[in-house]
Amino acid sequence: MKDLICDEFQNAVSELLIRHHSILDVLSKFQEACARTNRATVKAVTGCGCLSIEAKKRQIPPDVSLHELKDYFSSHLNGEICPSCQEMVETELGKTLFYMAALCNLLNLNLYDIFLKEHKKLSTLRIFNFT
Ligand SMILES: [Zn+2]
Repeated sequence: MKDLICDEFQNAVSELLIRHHSILDVLSKFQEACARTNRATVKAVTGCGCLSIEAKKRQIPPDVSLHELKDYFSSHLNGEICPSCQEMVETELGKTLFYMAALCNLLNLNLYDIFLKEHKKLSTLRIFNFT
């Protein structure tokens, strides 16, 4: 069973993608969108200040179990993203999705199939899926 919204999104990208039909353009625009997402996130810290980062080396006891391990990891983020920064990050993530769908179109791949495959992999591997 296909997901209609995902397929409609992928079809809309195909219809709207006029200027960047080359695989080189799509790959570089996809990478640019990822970089702009990172930049928007960084600006929430350095520009707005709604988020801050406090990072240090993790101290993990040697006898900790695999299930307890996640208790020792941190995002290193403090604070809560403000509506303005959230809008910026969401906009850039949207562009990332756009070029991801465009890449799928050029390679004749179905975005939803990839989503399902990844979801199935995560469901199967669960805690053993370290990425
Ligand atoms: Zn902010």
